[in-house]
Amino acid sequence: MALRTTGLSPADTLRALDDLKADDVRWRGGRAFTLAYHGGDDVIAIADDAYRRFSGDNALNTDAFPSLRTIQAEVVGIVIDWLEGDSDAAGFMTSGGTESILLAVKGARERGRQERGITDPNVVLPASAHAAFEKGCYYFGLESRRIPVDTDWRANPDAMAAAVDDNTVLIVGSAPQYPQGVIDPIPAIASIASERDINCHVDACMGGVTLTYLARLGHDIPPWNFTVEGVTSMSVDLHKYGYTAKGASVIAYRNKQLRAYQTYVTDNWLGGVYGSSGILGTKSGGPMAAAWAVMNYLGDDGYLRLTAAARRAAERLVDAVRARPVLSLRALPATTLVTFGAADPAALDIFAVADGLWRRGWYVDKQGPPPSLHLTLSAVHDGKIDNFVADLDASIAEASGAATQANIGSYATIE
Ligand SMILES: *Cc1c(COP(=O)(O)O)cnc(C)c1O
Repeated sequence: MALRTTGLSPADTLRALDDLKADDVRWRGGRAFTLAYHGGDDVIAIADDAYRRFSGDNALNTDAFPSLRTIQAEVVGIVIDWLEGDSDAAGFMTSGGTESILLAVKGARERGRQERGITDPNVVLPASAHAAFEKGCYYFGLESRRIPVDTDWRANPDAMAAAVDDNTVLIVGSAPQYPQGVIDPIPAIASIASERDINCHVDACMGGVTLTYLARLGHDIPPWNFTVEGVTSMSVDLHKYGYTAKGASVIAYRNKQLRAYQTYVTDNWLGGVYGSSGILGTKSGGPMAAAWAVMNYLGDDGYLRLTAAARRAAERLVDAVRARPVLSLRALPATTLVTFGAADPAALDIFAVADGLWRRGWYVDKQGPPPSLHLTLSAVHDGKIDNFVADLDASIAEASGAATQANIGSYATIE
């Protein structure tokens, strides 16, 4: 495809883009239970305005953009406060949960190499830990040791301890894990790491904001953050339950020495000293400014309100699933993730139910094993669950004997 010779007018350019979106899931209307998070039109407007102001600014060098240095420091500082880190804790903003996790893996590998001369590193992690850890092991040359989870889907610390050896550089827990939405036993996992003085990452990409505010709303939350001895790093995605524009996550370390293993500096080229905190070189100020803006616009009050709304929606959906004997709830959600399958997989093809929902305009994730539907509830879903459940019932009724389009609804695609 060649670029058009004569450019379009501004109006025609934007109209063409809007036309391209015609078939996209309507997440602003609460139709997506994955991929997008909606905290209200006012929140999106603040994020978009802030993004526009900084979209061309570059955090690769904050000497030139001191504003972005301040924005990063304040955003990271707030997240560390959420995670109950102390004044030694330090971190960076990244482009997303995957980058945060890649950096945690790379930092652990580097620490093992520099402190212990480990050349054949491995990571011990539950089967439920996010795919980004797999990607990190693949990118950076570590062995991934996946340990089966318990019957309640939580990590099994004894089995993890048995898999650790002298080449283990990182142990992982999640708060909560993505597939079934349960919180791993973080203290038991972290104590395996602290006994050996190796890294322990708690993946709070999904739960970092929600658990913070659920606790303040009076929910009983098991230990999950830097108050747990032995936790060396944590990831929190702001472009999920921080309700900001895409491209914003934080990787936080217990102290600056641990953080130092993730950064990279070289002068082995003709362009001078080149240092970068993460994977990216050029780093847009847009997502950083949007995150700062949304956090300051919402404040604690806003996050309490949005967290309560998302949790209400999740509880309503849980009640509906439990009231339907053909469905089987995988676990009581620790936060706002709800996963269920067919009570009898021979009688009901749960993926066909997902296809029926998509035909009715609702987008949910198909996942497995075991074959399940995964729903990420956000504030926008408060008040919409009854409509969803009506279409869920219709899709269940329709699903008997239906053929599945198994690729629709996979969590991520490669096109
Ligand atoms: C979303 C998620 C990630 C990956 O984050 P991206 O922003 O999609 O790169 C990692 N871990 C958990 C638990 C997640 O929910």
